[in-house]
Amino acid sequence: MSDNDEFRVPPDLTAQPFICPNCQSTKCRGQAFVDPGWTFGIGSPSESPWDFVFQLRFCAECGATIPAHLAERWEGMTVEETKEKWKRVYRDHPYHANPAGMVLGKD
Ligand SMILES: [Zn+2]
Repeated sequence: MSDNDEFRVPPDLTAQPFICPNCQSTKCRGQAFVDPGWTFGIGSPSESPWDFVFQLRFCAECGATIPAHLAERWEGMTVEETKEKWKRVYRDHPYHANPAGMVLGKD
């Protein structure tokens, strides 16, 4: 898989139970669906890997915002693979959008 791969993955078809790649917690406190502006023809995708993430999960333990494809190990990713990808691709990029108003799950 490339780094910017989520938008090519059929959502949830291969999802597995939540495991946070940041702290390994299995407690998810919520989720959000986001649509970056470029998907509406507004601007272009930025350099941020988050511009290709359409589903978010929120870890109840460490508070991290995690791409759903990592938290749920879509397409058979292992926990080790998601930890590596989280550290290398996502963790050190600030997530710019504030998804608080779009949280669908409960605390
Ligand atoms: Zn966590």
